[in-house]
Amino acid sequence: MSLNSSKCPKCEGESKLRPRDFSDQAIATLVAHGDLDKKLVGASICDECYDDLRDVLIEHQRAPVTKPAPSQNPAVAFAKQKKAS
Ligand SMILES: [Zn+2]
Repeated sequence: MSLNSSKCPKCEGESKLRPRDFSDQAIATLVAHGDLDKKLVGASICDECYDDLRDVLIEHQRAPVTKPAPSQNPAVAFAKQKKAS
C-alpha cells in the first residue's frame, strides 16, 4: 500500500497524482474540445493523463478551431449578385 498512490479521476487508474498547472487558456482549449472534463479542472491527475493532455493541447494549438473567416465567401457573393440582377 502506497501513500502516494491514489485513483486518477481521469483514467481511473491507480497512480501517483499531482496537481497540474495548465494556463487558463490551455484549460479552456482542453475543455472546449472535450479533452478535459470541467470537473477535473484543477484536479490532480496522473503522469499519463498529463502527457496525453499536453499532446492534444499541442495538436489543438497547431490547428486552431476558429479559423479566420474568409473576407469574401464566393457562395454569398454569387447569391448577392444573382439577387441584384
Ligand atoms: Zn490518469
